Amino acid sequence: MAGLIPTTIPNLGTGHEMALPDRLRDDVRELEGDIIRLRHQLHRRPEIGLHLPETQQAVLGALSDLPLEISTGTSCTSVTAVLRGTATAAGSGPAPAVLLRGDMDALPVREPAAEFSSTIDGTMHACGHDLHVAMLAGAARLLSAHRDALCGDVVFMFQPGEEGYDGAGRMLAEGVLEAAGPRVQRAYGMHVIAGNLARGQFTTRPGTMMASSDGLAVTVTGTGGHGSAPHRARDPISVAAEMITSLQTMVTRQFDIFDPVVVTVGSFHAGTKRNIIPEQASFDATVRTFSPAARERIETASVRLCQAIAAAHGLEADVRFTTEYPVTANDPVQAEFAAGVVADVFGADRFTPMRTPDAGAEDFSRVLEEVPGCYLFLGACPQDDFEAAADNHSPLAQFDDSVLADGCLLHANLAIRALQDIS
Ligand SMILES: [Zn+2]
Ligand SMILES: [Zn+2]
Repeated sequence: MAGLIPTTIPNLGTGHEMALPDRLRDDVRELEGDIIRLRHQLHRRPEIGLHLPETQQAVLGALSDLPLEISTGTSCTSVTAVLRGTATAAGSGPAPAVLLRGDMDALPVREPAAEFSSTIDGTMHACGHDLHVAMLAGAARLLSAHRDALCGDVVFMFQPGEEGYDGAGRMLAEGVLEAAGPRVQRAYGMHVIAGNLARGQFTTRPGTMMASSDGLAVTVTGTGGHGSAPHRARDPISVAAEMITSLQTMVTRQFDIFDPVVVTVGSFHAGTKRNIIPEQASFDATVRTFSPAARERIETASVRLCQAIAAAHGLEADVRFTTEYPVTANDPVQAEFAAGVVADVFGADRFTPMRTPDAGAEDFSRVLEEVPGCYLFLGACPQDDFEAAADNHSPLAQFDDSVLADGCLLHANLAIRALQDIS
């Protein structure tokens, strides 16, 4: 499987008469065609979940000629690559390390036929993770050509299973933060956005950037009976319906509107026929919060509410709150640092401060719980009217190749400058 063209590396990093930022900018243009080709290759062969064998092979192929220490996951098809910087002073103790992350998995979405569209029916890179892989592989190549600018080591985290499989949690358990030896001291990632952000714009914010995502699953058990005689049965449907309504009342009456929560019941199942009271009714909700405090409180409050409503009507309820991804929170200093790097590399007009957090969730949150760092969004909408464009996860979501080189360049600059900061 063809990776990035191996012969490009000797041509990079040679313009020593130029300042480093200009050399990086020149070199990424050299790589751009290869980065785009890799993205198209990945886009045609999307894979879902924690096991992405073809994607893993494509990444290994793209990195094969680079001076990296590569390991692969045992509980998932992750790839971890370590690049040793050579600007570190000898004998000054272990070099510091920073982490750059790209997620790799696709979604169960059927993509309409188009240029380089998916050849796997019902599977699509509808969240743009193919761009993330290509940008990170490009950054590995670019930084490999500029090891002499790295005052420490870079860990490249190619992660499967972001879309609800907690691939980040698996990679943390397998030691990705210690891949270079000493634990990484900074971590950065970025996500391309198909709609609602202009092409080429970077955005992020200090503190909470994305929501936590948890689940509330409830099964109400009553006693079945004839629809004409509810007093001789125990109707689980009316009780479950009361829970669903009361959950919204709970949101407005028990939670601060300036620390919002979202509870959405996305599935409800009960019954077979209108004149039969069933034994059971069940529903499933997604729960989003924007602070660890609200997250902790809503678990207790929602479980208590559902159990108490069931008890009030003399029925049983099995109520399960399952935690998924925590709040994605940027370190305030690192958010400012990343915004500064964007402004410095691309110009201040390429950075849009993010006014409010996004209610989506992201398992890079697990890395940011452990290491100060920053997650950014990068607008990748091909059309100028980005507000009318389809969002990520839509079968109509489109991501423009023109942002790949800039994403790659930002990765490289974040790593170089973060290591300078630490040293
Ligand atoms: Zn997604
Ligand atoms: Zn995504």
